[in-house]
Amino acid sequence: MALIVQKYGGSSLTDVEKIKKIAARVIAAKDSGDEIVVVVSARGDTTDKLIKLAHQINEQPAEREMDMLLSTGEQVSAALLTMAIHAQGKDATSFTGTQVGIATDSSHTRAKILKIDAKRVKNKLEKGHIVIVAGFQGIDYEGNITTLGRGGSDLTAVSLAAVLNAQRCEICTDVEGVYTADPRIVPEARKLNVVSYDEMLEMASLGAYVLYDRSVEMAKRFSVPLHIRHSFSRNPGTLIIKEDKSMEDILVRGITLSKEEAKVSFHGVSDKPGVAAKLFQAIASANISVNMIIQNVSKEGLSDISFTVAKGDLKKAIAMARKVSRQIGGCKVSADDGIANVSIVGIGMGRHSGVAAEMFTALAEEGVNIQMISTSEIKISCIVSEKDGKKAARAIHTKFKLGKRN
Ligand code: ASP
Ligand code: MG
Repeated sequence: MALIVQKYGGSSLTDVEKIKKIAARVIAAKDSGDEIVVVVSARGDTTDKLIKLAHQINEQPAEREMDMLLSTGEQVSAALLTMAIHAQGKDATSFTGTQVGIATDSSHTRAKILKIDAKRVKNKLEKGHIVIVAGFQGIDYEGNITTLGRGGSDLTAVSLAAVLNAQRCEICTDVEGVYTADPRIVPEARKLNVVSYDEMLEMASLGAYVLYDRSVEMAKRFSVPLHIRHSFSRNPGTLIIKEDKSMEDILVRGITLSKEEAKVSFHGVSDKPGVAAKLFQAIASANISVNMIIQNVSKEGLSDISFTVAKGDLKKAIAMARKVSRQIGGCKVSADDGIANVSIVGIGMGRHSGVAAEMFTALAEEGVNIQMISTSEIKISCIVSEKDGKKAARAIHTKFKLGKRN
């Protein structure tokens, strides 16, 4: 008998029919002989609606009260799913994060899990119950309800799986798994059978939103195998596991395309020690994280430095860049939010040469200009103009024959 944690996303629980179907699926898993702990998200767009409501009442609602409010969405799901299981004749008990003993720090709306007690979960499992846990929430040491940040139910599921020593954590959602690329952009994209934790981490942070990156980190840290699959299909999805040798044979596992970055450039910066330090200290002091940086070779003692930030941080980044520009003698600052980041990810690329050349060739053949490049052991990213993004992703996907393998 194994212990399985299943997490159901909000889109799987939107109406009565779906809740009944999920209940039947959970029961079937239990009947196959395993112990089942289910973590649920708020139904549909409940969380968004609650956030909107809060802002209609108060433009700047206190974060503690936001957590009081938002945590209710998951509680509703947990109670309803438990009732549906009862209606189908099985024992089940629902718990809030507090009742399960998910202890977090006190950073409301983005709390970190510190410890999970899980005694009550174990007790109920021993009594043969299916246990349903409201995701996304915990309690701090003073007894306040906290939430874990948007998408945080995944984190609840993975953390519980780690603490309970589950055989695996199934993330049941509205897609069939992780694909070689977003099928809405690249129609011939193919579902992947396995992806390593590190590849998934890169893909998640580059905009493949199937999974929340903090939950992949947690799964990696505690070696919890993840299985991403569709809530209403029996097809196997994608396994996310520790890499093994055989996974290195594939150079490129997947492609991501993200339009969430913007570029800021300094033109004509004097090429001397301390300039970059000053610039990036200022950016860091404004709590802006920088993704990519390039500095051009200097001409006559002057060079250009460009960097990318999240689009939401662009205004702040420009203000900081202008301030630094005044301090270092007034170089020109420009910004561009019409860019896209197209990346290839694969643990195999570190051991092979020529992968970057192949990617650049694919772009060249389509006449796509590369504005910036950054590489790591398992990733190559290119910044291109936003209008070229989709074309670039398709061309690279074809070049690496990602649609044809099985
Ligand atoms: N309901 C929360 C959100 O929408 C948490 C989750 O769905 O995982 O962000
Ligand atoms: Mg949600």
